[in-house]
Amino acid sequence: MKLGRISVATIAVGVALGLAACGGGASTATGGTVKIGIKFDQPGLGLKSGADYTGMDVDLAKYLAKELSLGTPEFVEAVSAQRETLIQTDQVKFIVGTYSITDARKEKVSFAGPYFIAGQDLLVRADDNSITGVESLNGKKLCSVKGSTSAANVQKAVPGVNLQEYGTYTLCVDALKAKNVDALTTDDTILAGYAAQEANKGLMKVVGKTFSKESYGVGLKKGDTAFCQKVTDAINKYVSSGEWQKAVDKNLGPAGYKAGAGNPPTPAPCS
Ligand code: GLU
Repeated sequence: MKLGRISVATIAVGVALGLAACGGGASTATGGTVKIGIKFDQPGLGLKSGADYTGMDVDLAKYLAKELSLGTPEFVEAVSAQRETLIQTDQVKFIVGTYSITDARKEKVSFAGPYFIAGQDLLVRADDNSITGVESLNGKKLCSVKGSTSAANVQKAVPGVNLQEYGTYTLCVDALKAKNVDALTTDDTILAGYAAQEANKGLMKVVGKTFSKESYGVGLKKGDTAFCQKVTDAINKYVSSGEWQKAVDKNLGPAGYKAGAGNPPTPAPCS
């Protein structure tokens, strides 16, 4: 009998604690999770290695989740062509994934930022001296990724280019190594990460002549100005506190990448 009563009491306390935890969760999101879109295959930016996520974008994503009390990040892969859809269909709360702010994308999503300025460049095999810039791409086989500004920009710059569009940048790196393409084009940040990867050391090089300005923003639900403002305030704090510089040094430094002119940028007003 006595034992029975203790058991009942224990259950009652347990239920009460459970309810308290739920109440706290609802009001502050403590204990909850937040789905965040990142890249999974871009060293230095967004990289999944087992259960670990690293990179400049991952660090900003974690900072935003903490600073805005959104919950524990649950990272979702956001390949270039899927980003707008992931946001529009609420599969992620926001995306930090080398996501350039463009007018076309602003038709579907909103952006906080920019938080970083990159530029489009070319990655070629280390022994290839025939490609020295975008002007030497005629007749060359080029790889880029579907739904990226990189593919759109290069098609505009070199209308006659033989462009192969793949689903991810790692597929382009593999194609470059296998000599199925002559070059890979995307942001210099991403290319520096690949060139410095252990498995690619000495095999490829970044040409070093950028031909676009890529302003990275945090993609979020179109028209959610209140959330955009919170993210913008957090980005400003990220920069002013020195965290931005720390993240850049830690994540892009090992690849020998230095943030170029315009960094760190001042985020634009949310509209
Ligand atoms: N920053 C460019 C873009 O948003 C290229 C990199 C990427 O595909 O993520 O399209």
